[in-house]
Parts: sequence; C-alpha cells; structure tokens
Amino acid sequence: MATPVFRFDPVELPPEALKMRVEVREFIKEHEHLMGFSKADFNRDFSRAMGRRGWIGMTWPKRYGGQERTAFERFVLIEEMLAAGAPLSAHYTGDRQSGPNILRFGTEEQKMFFCPKIAAGELSFCIGMSEPNSGSDVAGTRTRAVKIDGGYRINGSKLWTSNAHRADYCILFCKMAGDGKEETDRHAGATQFLLDLKTPGVEIRPVLNLLGEHHFNEIFLTDVFVPDNRLLGKEGNGWNQLTSELSFERSAPDRFLVLFQMLREMVRMAGPTPDKGTAAALGKLIAQLATLRGMSLSIAGMLQDGYDPNNESAVVKDLGTRYEQDIPVVARQLFPTEPELEAIDTYVSMIARSTMNAPRFSIQGGTREILRGIIARGLGLR
Ligand SMILES: Cc1cc2nc3c(=O)[nH]c(=O)nc-3n(C[C@H](O)[C@H](O)[C@H](O)COP(=O)(O)OP(=O)(O)OC[C@H]3O[C@@H](n4cnc5c(N)ncnc54)[C@H](O)[C@@H]3O)c2cc1C
Repeated sequence: MATPVFRFDPVELPPEALKMRVEVREFIKEHEHLMGFSKADFNRDFSRAMGRRGWIGMTWPKRYGGQERTAFERFVLIEEMLAAGAPLSAHYTGDRQSGPNILRFGTEEQKMFFCPKIAAGELSFCIGMSEPNSGSDVAGTRTRAVKIDGGYRINGSKLWTSNAHRADYCILFCKMAGDGKEETDRHAGATQFLLDLKTPGVEIRPVLNLLGEHHFNEIFLTDVFVPDNRLLGKEGNGWNQLTSELSFERSAPDRFLVLFQMLREMVRMAGPTPDKGTAAALGKLIAQLATLRGMSLSIAGMLQDGYDPNNESAVVKDLGTRYEQDIPVVARQLFPTEPELEAIDTYVSMIARSTMNAPRFSIQGGTREILRGIIARGLGLR
C-alpha cells in the first residue's frame, strides 16, 4: 500500500497526560487572578512560575533544562492553559519553536546557554522573519549578513516582529551577502542568527494592531555585529532550518483555542434549553473543535515519534484559523449586540475583541493562500 500523503492517525492520551490535566487545573486555580482572554498577554512572573513547575521546554532533555516528558503531556498543558486564557506570551515562542530549533541545529554551547534559561521562564525569544516586501515570500529577504573578523555584520529590517520590544533574543533570518548563487537558487545563502536585542545598532519601533495595542514591531538593523558563536546552524542552511521551525509553529492547539473563552461564553448565553437553530450553530462549532483537536493531537503523536508533520501542520493551521474566524461571526448572528471594547459585560467586550482580532488569525504563521500552496504540494498537485 502506498504511504498516505497526510497522516492523521487517531491518538489516545496516555495516563500521564490525563494526570497532567489535573495538575494544570490546580495551577490555574492558584493563579486565577492572572487568567484572562488571550495568551498574548506578556507576563514574566507567570512564565517563571511555569518554569519552576518544569512546564516550559518540558519535552527537552534534562541536560538542557527540560523534563523529558511526552509531547502528549505538553499538549494537555497547552490546551488547558489556552482554555483558561493564561498569559503565555513571555515564554511561548521559546518553548514552541526557538528552543527546539536551537536543540536541533545549535552548538553544545548554545544549547547549554539558551535552553535552561528559556525553560526557567527567564529568557524570551521573538521571530525575525518577515520584512517589508517579503512577508509570505520569506526567501525574498533583503537583510544581509557579511562575514567579518570574529563574527558577522548585519544590515536590514524586519517587520511584524511580535514582542520584539519585550523579548531578549530574536532568531534572525537573513542572507549571506554576495555569494553569487542567488540568481539560480532563491534559498542560497539563507542563514539564521541568535541576535541579542540589546546589541548596538538594533532599533525597535512599535507597530500598533487594529485594537490600537502594541504587540508587534519594526526592527531596523544598522551595522549590527553578531559574534561567530551566535550563528545558528550553518551558513546557507537557513531555509532548511526555518521550514522545520514552522511545523512547530503551525500545529499547536493555539491555532484553534485562542477564542475558546468566547465559545464558552456563547454556550453560557444559550443556556440549558437553547432553541433548535442556536443548538445547531453551537453544535457545529463544537464538533469542528473536537475534530481539530483530534488532528492536532495526532500531530503531537507524530512529533513524539520524531516524524516531521509539515503538511499536516499546514492543514490544521488553515482549518483552525478558518474555524476561529467563524466564532465571532456566529456569535453576532446568535446574540447580536453593539460591540464595545471597554464594556463591563463580558460578552459585549469579548465580541469586540474577537472581531478585531479575527483578521490576524489567517495571516500570522503563514497566510491562508501560502498554507494551501503547501497542502497542494503535499498532495502532489503542484
Ligand atoms: C498578529 C501577527 C503577528 C505576527 N508576528 C510575526 C513575527 O513575530 N515574526 C515575523 O517574522 N512575522 C510575523 N508576522 C508576519 C506574518 O507572518 C506575515 O504578515 C505574513 O507572512 C504575510 O506577509 P505580508 O504581511 O508581507 O503579506 P504578503 O506576503 O504581501 O501577502 C499579501 C497577500 O498576498 C497573498 N500571497 C502572497 N504570496 C502569494 C503566493 N505566492 N500565492 C498566493 N497568494 C500569495 C497572501 O496570502 C496575502 O493574502 C505576524 C503577523 C501577524 C498578523
């Protein structure tokens, strides 16, 4: 039998993951005062508290600050935290993708320097990939690194960098200048660096989102010096490293649980005896959620087995973001109200926030069209 193009094997959570759920719920109760509506909240104290419990980088080797626990336990941890609206932002990028990327491609010194600090909730990372004129087309990056004595000199700019103003380090994607191969190979010279955001020549300017909040930024890099020991992986291997990083980014439950509290609020408003139309609309959303969760869990199983679920992650991210964008639309149809950001009534402010947040879901982490291109390639259609 031919190998299937997409693998979504059904997965049952093992007993240790079920035990984890109880522990996380207790932890959430203890930190109830910090729970809210969005994982986007940046709270280092909360991250440190999670670090103390061994819940950041929990699947990593103990030698590098991890706990050698399973991808399933991590899955349960993340879904419980998201469902409660925990502020994960200060450690989430490091936990989800920068740490795993360093463990996969970094030197021993880099693994020992960065990973225990990420796992303790002490070191925060951001992703320096997108630029003006090369967002989806990351290979078109114009930021250039030149090899000099003892390191590299980097010039260029990055855009939409979430949390750059609060993070400590950035994994910076750029190209080595002038190797002459770019005309025939768009990925030639691609290279990643571990950039300390306090380095002279790094200027971070705010970009406000639709809600008028400051989450992402523009970064300008002028003759920034990065020492040799902060090159990540190999010069020219950046494209390969980046694509492996993106499958960590795209498959996690945060691709369909960001608005879970909104859904819960809708169920509360429908009450115990909703009319048929309301029950059907909510039932559809809940059935979709159960399916997405099953698919995402299956990806956790593949990560646990060391398989690279690049295509499957693109499917979950595309379906997950479409689902999340549907939630405020269905909410407005079922329970129409005038949205108001500052309203005391939870539903009224939630609908305002989620409506303003929804457009970003299908852009961040790869736009809908780009993901569908990846899916088409996975199916052998292009
Ligand atoms: C909330 C949020 C947080 C973000 N955080 C970060 C971050 O931390 N770090 C970071 O590096 N980036 C981040 N991004 C950037 C994000 O990943 C990019 O915005 C995204 O990749 C799209 O790039 P762009 O905005 O330049 O749009 P473009 O690439 O210009 O795309 C515009 C439109 O054209 C379509 N399009 C482009 N190319 C093709 C193609 N080949 N085929 C078909 N259609 C195409 C796109 O799908 C899109 O609809 C963030 C974005 C958001 C919204």
